[in-house]
Amino acid sequence: MADDKRSKIRESIEAEQDETLAEILRLREVLKSELEADLEDGDPHVYEREKILALLRNLEGKQYSLSRALNSMEDGTYGICEICGREISTERLEALSYTTHCVECKEHVEKGIVARPAGQLTL
Ligand SMILES: [Zn+2]
Repeated sequence: MADDKRSKIRESIEAEQDETLAEILRLREVLKSELEADLEDGDPHVYEREKILALLRNLEGKQYSLSRALNSMEDGTYGICEICGREISTERLEALSYTTHCVECKEHVEKGIVARPAGQLTL
């Protein structure tokens, strides 16, 4: 991959990381005020809380994938699938620059054939 293209991708991943982090912090605040409200009125908003927690889990997984993608740029393994070690297709990387898995492995994880890598979302 050309260097200029790579640095563009890095910039977009870093921007995405900032946004994701901001959203995580925002949701944590929302969750905190939900919990405080629950304590005050004694009526737990379980559904709301579950929804926020699910969003947070997703974002944290995304955050993790973003940082792994950035690390892989540092050590020169960007675009290589972490599970099977083959190259991830350019189309896939263009659509989802921070993925660290090829389509086949993503499907295998979804079907439960391959274990989901710890802490990660398979995107
Ligand atoms: Zn793979």
